Amino acid sequence: MPIDPPRRHLLVVEDEPAINDSVTRRLEAEGYAVTQAWDGPGAVAAAAEETPDLVVLDVMLPGYDGLEVCRRLQQHRPIPVLMLTARDDEADILAGLAVGADDYLTKPFGLRELVARVAALLRRVERATELAGRSARVLQAGTVTIDTGTRRVTVEDQQVHLTPTEFDLLACLAAAPGQVLARDRLLAEVWDWPDATGTRTVDSHIKALRAKIGADRVRTVHGVGYALEVR
Ligand code: CA
Repeated sequence: MPIDPPRRHLLVVEDEPAINDSVTRRLEAEGYAVTQAWDGPGAVAAAAEETPDLVVLDVMLPGYDGLEVCRRLQQHRPIPVLMLTARDDEADILAGLAVGADDYLTKPFGLRELVARVAALLRRVERATELAGRSARVLQAGTVTIDTGTRRVTVEDQQVHLTPTEFDLLACLAAAPGQVLARDRLLAEVWDWPDATGTRTVDSHIKALRAKIGADRVRTVHGVGYALEVR
């Protein structure tokens, strides 16, 4: 895959020096500027100071864990997060998605795959921002207002903070209000890496979105997909 990233700034958070260093060296070789952090508090401090474009975040960390780091980061501003989890630890994966991670990789992973995932996630966020700038518009579904220019969402005039993935999902649903969108279609439109992600990821992000905008605003059509309620 040809990757020609502009100089984006990444934050790599992992307490195991061998993994942190090899990931960092590889990402630097791909042209990224990389800051390293080694524990929970260090990650939150580095993110506040450096405002990275994306965070590669291990779950198991000293201080507080990657889930808590993710939760704290998303409180400040939406930031793309690629979570690293222990092999096959489904509980970690689902917990990570619930606190706003956009994608995950299970250990052990290949550096080539890591690079591809990072590039895909950055592309997705940048494309969304670019599209929003080009055709900024305000989508309305009942009392939910979605400004695709500023990526601001309000529910009953209260601002709601969504992660980039949650925002893209909501914007996708809101583009066809009341209409049922299949999980496969949501996967294809919102994720750049659908094969590796799977429709269960859609379910997890929908669950997180519901918790933020109100469960009854997103209707589940079992075995098919989801629809945004228009009332
Ligand atoms: Ca670790």
